[in-house]
Amino acid sequence: MSQRQLAMVIDINKCLGCQTCTIADKNMWLRGPGQEYMCWNSVETRPGDGYPRRWEKMGGGFDANGEVQLGDLPGVEDYGVPWEWDWEKLPHIFPRPQPSWGPNWQEDVGEGEYPNTWYFYLPRPCNHCNKPACLAACPRQAIYKREEDGIVLIDQERCRGYRYCVRACPYKKPYYNVQTNKAEKCIFCFPRVEKGVPPACVAQCAGRIRFFGFMDDTEGPVYKLVKKFKVAVPLHPEYGTEPNVYYVPPISTPRVGNNGEPQGQGRIPLAYLESLFGPSVRQVLDTLRQEIARARRGETSELIQTLVSNQRWRV
Ligand code: SF4
Repeated sequence: MSQRQLAMVIDINKCLGCQTCTIADKNMWLRGPGQEYMCWNSVETRPGDGYPRRWEKMGGGFDANGEVQLGDLPGVEDYGVPWEWDWEKLPHIFPRPQPSWGPNWQEDVGEGEYPNTWYFYLPRPCNHCNKPACLAACPRQAIYKREEDGIVLIDQERCRGYRYCVRACPYKKPYYNVQTNKAEKCIFCFPRVEKGVPPACVAQCAGRIRFFGFMDDTEGPVYKLVKKFKVAVPLHPEYGTEPNVYYVPPISTPRVGNNGEPQGQGRIPLAYLESLFGPSVRQVLDTLRQEIARARRGETSELIQTLVSNQRWRV
């Protein structure tokens, strides 16, 4: 554990799926050779196979005895290879060769039967975990967690490109750079944070869905949403890495009958949300609905005010 820990809260209810965060991150850190396929931050449509494809089935994390597990190594085709465009066929241009997978391949692909279809967006940076499986698995001790803010970094001098971190991270958030023979990952924009500005994905987010700050800052939005109101929960807590990225889960649109009448239940199966965010998601959704009702009655809800506030970070 570090002395202090920076954390992020992502309100899925406000995510537009616009990928501004992904592009902000890509423009800032991922313009070099070997980084073409990388998105340290990605936004995947759920339900769907995600990025890299089927990452949740690849293993990693810690077992019940606290032993780090080495999962599968994704191939570059699981991320999606950048393709060329066939400009000679203008005005009808097509990718060349014809791809069968890529980032956002399943964008906006939903589930369920009309009119009760559903999907939502799941943004995913590195979680800067309290117990980073990447760090535990590295035989070179090239990965470290900073004392002052808990950011997990890969020392590019020490890394030899063995890719144990890629296999051990159950979120598949380290990436292998074939040009440098090193692993890389999201750095929580630490050079920006050290200057008192938030990560690029937080600052640029068009939907203003991201909150950022120290977990022990009791006046900050992260503390309030995670600890005080308990409406932000980690993704796949069962992986055992104790992530520091938290999610306000999606409040499902109500199911409707044949004539469009609301039927009470949400469209997104609760079991699906529990498979992502753990068993506390039911309580979280109840709290959110109660506070929304309170705000609609014209009463003050500090929780809703926090969620819609412009005060989204304190670093
Ligand atoms: Fe390491 Fe993966 Fe946790 Fe990031 S999400 S700190 S890469 S184990």
